[in-house]
Amino acid sequence: MSIENTRPPHGGHGDRGITVLLRRMHDAVAEEGSAQERLDLLTRIIASHVVADVCSIYLRRPDDDLELYSTEGLNRSAVHKTRLKWGEGLVGLVAQSHRPLVTADAPLHPAFAYRAETGEDRLHSFLGVPLIRSGKTLGVLVVQNKAGREYTSEEVEAVQAVAILLAEIAASGELLSREETEAVGEMLHRPERLKGFGIVSGIASGRAVFLQSSPPKHKVFAADTGVEAARLEEGLTLLRASVDDMLASNASLGGVSREVLEAYRMFAYDRSWKDRLRAAVFSGLTAESAVEQIKTENCARLMQSPDPYLRERLHDLDDLSHRLLQFLSGEQKRGRRKLFDEIILVARTMGPAELLEYDRKALKGLVLGEVSEASHVTIIARALKIPMVTGIRDAVERAEEGDQIVIDGDAGDVHIRPASKTVESFRDKLQKQSERLAVYASERNLPAVTRDGVQMTLYMNAGLAFDLPNLAETGAGGIGLFRTELQFLVGTQLPSVAMQEAFYREALDLADGKPVIFRTADIGGDKTADYMDHGDDVNPAMGWRGVRMAVDRPGMIRPQLRALLAAAAGRTLYLMFPFVTLSGELGEVKALLDREIERARRRNQTLPEAIKIGAMIETPAAAWRADLIAQNVDFLSIGGNDLAQFYFAADRESERVQRRYDPMNPGFLSFLKQTVAKAKRAKTPLSYCGEQAADPVAAAALIGIGMTQFSVPAATVGPFRRLVRSLNRAELSAWLDDHMDRPEVTLRPELAKFLSDNGVVLE
Ligand code: PEP
Ligand code: MG
Repeated sequence: MSIENTRPPHGGHGDRGITVLLRRMHDAVAEEGSAQERLDLLTRIIASHVVADVCSIYLRRPDDDLELYSTEGLNRSAVHKTRLKWGEGLVGLVAQSHRPLVTADAPLHPAFAYRAETGEDRLHSFLGVPLIRSGKTLGVLVVQNKAGREYTSEEVEAVQAVAILLAEIAASGELLSREETEAVGEMLHRPERLKGFGIVSGIASGRAVFLQSSPPKHKVFAADTGVEAARLEEGLTLLRASVDDMLASNASLGGVSREVLEAYRMFAYDRSWKDRLRAAVFSGLTAESAVEQIKTENCARLMQSPDPYLRERLHDLDDLSHRLLQFLSGEQKRGRRKLFDEIILVARTMGPAELLEYDRKALKGLVLGEVSEASHVTIIARALKIPMVTGIRDAVERAEEGDQIVIDGDAGDVHIRPASKTVESFRDKLQKQSERLAVYASERNLPAVTRDGVQMTLYMNAGLAFDLPNLAETGAGGIGLFRTELQFLVGTQLPSVAMQEAFYREALDLADGKPVIFRTADIGGDKTADYMDHGDDVNPAMGWRGVRMAVDRPGMIRPQLRALLAAAAGRTLYLMFPFVTLSGELGEVKALLDREIERARRRNQTLPEAIKIGAMIETPAAAWRADLIAQNVDFLSIGGNDLAQFYFAADRESERVQRRYDPMNPGFLSFLKQTVAKAKRAKTPLSYCGEQAADPVAAAALIGIGMTQFSVPAATVGPFRRLVRSLNRAELSAWLDDHMDRPEVTLRPELAKFLSDNGVVLE
């Protein structure tokens, strides 16, 4: 037997059509009878709705085969017999690619696989849509017609809408037998290994928590439509109120930020969004399913829009849908709650302030989609010693909240729902990690001297209270970069002078005579807090930040200088100014300092015993004139994170361009080497405080070009000391001199080989 029905193909299914279809699906699921009977009824309904000659549902088996589970139009004796391998035939291709496939002549498609038992030889048009749930393909929904024709975008949309529901139903157990539901569950929860880039070293395990939490589980079909409509109404009211609040509390925002918020608010109040949500509810869906349904439809529509503004708005709509789901479930924003004792935070991207909102004790690891080595969230993660893997864009889809995750921040591995063997091997690694830490601790008083007797100065970076105990634990010689802006980022308002003073005093007390180099607040780029209005810079990293903001708007730096002067009373105050471009800028900022010194004198306050001024070399302009800048300061420090981003013109926050360029590029190394020479000629101490020094091969290269002072993340102090003590600087410098003019993009592989051939410890 072959095709049972022959219907004329025609399209034309608007929103109303979809609503009617969903309503009919709702009724079918509620029917008495076996799971198979209900599935067959659904298949018939879909076939008649989209006027297809054939509608079939294939489900994925635990061995990844796709089995024909139900069909309307194909030979029924093929049900539960026909199987396609993953990637085999058009059905297998849809499953593998996670994408719909439309073709007017299926037998001519190169991937077509003929199955005689189904009797599909007279079919031409094919539309296959994957059934996706939690990022995994659970099966494929197929409609076919005898006539060779293109399905309209409306038909594709309708079938996609049905596929979303089918996937939800398959996972919810409302349709399949218990055994089938278990098989689906098994598939959704099988172990997965994802490969990314390890950017903060270390091993961690915990439960998955999303920065934007996933929608709570819910029923697909409404038991009582009136109740669901009322829930939707209430959810929308709460959502709108929350958006209004957000706008009111950000009243000081101006320019682009304000416009974005206003647009967001407009969507929250959009009449047609509400109407479509209500229509979906009245078709028989729960309020939650209605939100999911309309969100997917919007997504399909806006993604195809040629208007970039509209495509941008997709994010707003997603976010609003997400919030609405949270309100429907009675949950408020989950991000800041402590959900489990040990968590691995999973997000596409995040800012440094968001990271700081998490409970430090609970937060064990980070899996991020798009974050680079030099971004501030990485710097904070490193300071907090939170292992981090990046470059994994679909972790949010693959994991579910609460899933066990283990990560290796060195190898870049992420294991979701790991098998017991994987957990065991991670335990071993964890053990080795703690043994290594014990070695670093035991070596903390050893001098950082190279094998050929060159003494290095080894300081650490800090910025928050939890960093301070690291000074004693690591044996660092001081704090070479105290990022004071971090205190500004963690709070909800500008810290008062008294709060700043107390914090700086605590740092100086704990340092117990070791130098602490306070870098005045470098606000801008990704370093902003909600309460700050930092203008409308299109590119804030190159905009109004560092000393530029300080001299234009002394209202922030003057209280900070006041707090620093008071905290360092009777001791040496090391002050460093960020993002200096021209030497003249130092004169302006030093004039502000003089005014504060004068003010303290007038009030008979005790002043610091000595004040040492430093400038950060973070722009190529400053590096080029390092000798001139040196004449205005007591010391210099290369901020390699910013300097590299401007040297390569590659945004340090952009994961896409970050890995294109390597600071081990011979051009960049020779540029740094010239800067070292300029500082030397000016007889001004120069240190390096960029994150690159946390990477052992890069650290070795910096030593090789003549750097002798470093400030590194606390966790790097131990390995750095071992590196220094195992290398011969003269040999290294000679090797680098020989390679400085090489055309390679990076010297990394060759240098790594040279170092390991010479017994240098790279940990
Ligand atoms: C740098 O740019 O290298 C630096 C140390 O400053 P920050 O990373 O805070 O911008
Ligand atoms: Mg910088």
